[in-house]
Amino acid sequence: MRAALEAKRRHADVALISKVHPVRSHSVAAQGGINAPLGQSDTWESHAYDTVKGSDYLGDQDAIEALSREAAQAVVDLENMGVAFYRGPDGRLAPRNFGGASTARTYFVGAITGHAILHVMYEQLLRAGVKIYEEWFVTSLVNEGGFTAGLVAQELLTGRFHPIQAKAIILCTGGCGRVYEPSTNALICTGDGMSLAWRAGAPLMDMEMVQYHPTTLPSNGALMTEGARGDGAYLRNALGDRFMSKYAPNKLELASRDVVSRAEQVEIDEGRGVDDGLGAKSCVYLDCTHLPREFILERLGEIYEIARQFANVDITTQPVPVRPGMHYMMGGIKTNVDGRTRVPGLYAAGECACVSVHGGNRLGANSLLDTVIFGRRAGAHAAEFARQVEFRPLSEGAVLDSERRAQEVLGRPANGDSIAKVRMELGQTMHQYAGVWRDGKGLNTALSRIYSLKERYQRAPVQDKGKVFNTNLVFHWELGYMLDNAEAILVSAIHRTESRGAHYRTDCPERDDQSWLKHIVLDYRPGAAPGIQYAPVTITRWKPEKRVY
Ligand SMILES: Cc1cc2nc3c(=O)[nH]c(=O)nc-3n(C[C@H](O)[C@H](O)[C@H](O)COP(=O)(O)OP(=O)(O)OC[C@H]3O[C@@H](n4cnc5c(N)ncnc54)[C@H](O)[C@@H]3O)c2cc1C
Repeated sequence: MRAALEAKRRHADVALISKVHPVRSHSVAAQGGINAPLGQSDTWESHAYDTVKGSDYLGDQDAIEALSREAAQAVVDLENMGVAFYRGPDGRLAPRNFGGASTARTYFVGAITGHAILHVMYEQLLRAGVKIYEEWFVTSLVNEGGFTAGLVAQELLTGRFHPIQAKAIILCTGGCGRVYEPSTNALICTGDGMSLAWRAGAPLMDMEMVQYHPTTLPSNGALMTEGARGDGAYLRNALGDRFMSKYAPNKLELASRDVVSRAEQVEIDEGRGVDDGLGAKSCVYLDCTHLPREFILERLGEIYEIARQFANVDITTQPVPVRPGMHYMMGGIKTNVDGRTRVPGLYAAGECACVSVHGGNRLGANSLLDTVIFGRRAGAHAAEFARQVEFRPLSEGAVLDSERRAQEVLGRPANGDSIAKVRMELGQTMHQYAGVWRDGKGLNTALSRIYSLKERYQRAPVQDKGKVFNTNLVFHWELGYMLDNAEAILVSAIHRTESRGAHYRTDCPERDDQSWLKHIVLDYRPGAAPGIQYAPVTITRWKPEKRVY
């Protein structure tokens, strides 16, 4: 939405396509806040350094500089548009603490920051008159002579496929959280844009970097915001110890997410876990009970509700069992700081893109920031690009191709595995072998399973044969995208024989800057294993150091 708004402001003729109503996008679930060095003693350099360190030195420092330099203005712009950020008793914007940050710089709206931002962005789109195709599902991107020509989308209300000609396309399709099961992500986070771009010739980068968030509920994977720890909550093991003092003596609960998730998993694996309510000791406690009840209700109201509904815990009086869970995709479609991919006219921004500002590990509250900063930049650049080029012809064949694929799928005999079964096996495989701990053997096992799931997917029937809102057919398209994402994650994770950020290999537990201070870049090759290349890490002023919190 930020990209569309910027392009519109620059007088481009813009349409926004979304498979759900725009305010149901996963950004609506963002809880804790958005980072900006707005405080009087804060600086963009400090924000940038924290981000570089958080990334375990894999983030590109030119991109991180752009992120941090523009952050303060971006948050002020959001406020001016109408996002009612929290203000302290003196009436000034007041941030909360967040993990990996050397000072408080996370601006927030209770525990519904994403909700607040998304609704304001949507109002801005309406105001600017951006044409919105809601509940339209993109099934393919079309190139002509190596340039972007447009795309094909299915209108879910009627089932019809439409060609949409475009000089430039900006993919802002979000993450691929549901490639893992469970995940904090919405069911619609299926990595569609990453797969679409990959197949259209734009490489993927840093795909092995998958973030596990330290505090998710065991029953359904729902998130308990890092804002809780930012506002003072503790993590405790079964003995009642605040165990983070062992792993991150300075930052404790507010070390970066990869560090906290691993610490929890060690506690759990060594037998100091607490009951998850499902018959195992696979959790630790998130303890808010020492915080005043009114304070919790005002600032963390949403997670108070989530814990009551999904864990039957009142966090104002009891600690809540939590564990690490899949949360965020650092990798994605390789872009430069203007959102450009390798394909002329194809742009990407937000979680589906990899600029790379997050490198091996994203800091909390840097992702909403990433979407608005690089969304704005991509919108500006794409509008300029569109002014300079002509429309490419969009052949009829592209639509026929999607229609034929749909017919083939709808005509399948009902005896294969269901889409839901293949999807669940995919998610469980990824969680088991490509989660907090990884090793070469497990990753290879997972990859061969993914290849056999890809075969089963080719035979999986779709029960609903209708045209109107055929969500079964949507699940079919999405599963294809998810399997591509899973393959890319595993191929990269097998390839990176070191541990860095969220990628921790028990068979090679050290960071190895000599061999691996570089990005892994994957090309799609039809019918063959992905092509592997490297891209250098851009280092401007912060030399790699040992990372301690
Ligand atoms: C529970 C939760 C809490 C979070 N909290 C925070 C936080 O406090 N701070 C922070 O910085 N980050 C947070 N994050 C991360 C952050 O919210 C996301 O990374 C970010 O919002 C992603 O935004 P996006 O615009 O890239 O994608 P999304 O908001 O996921 O939007 C993707 C859009 O693409 C559309 N789309 C996708 N595929 C298709 C297709 N095939 N056809 C048509 N349309 C398609 C969707 O309809 C949707 O509109 C949180 C994430 C989660 C899951």
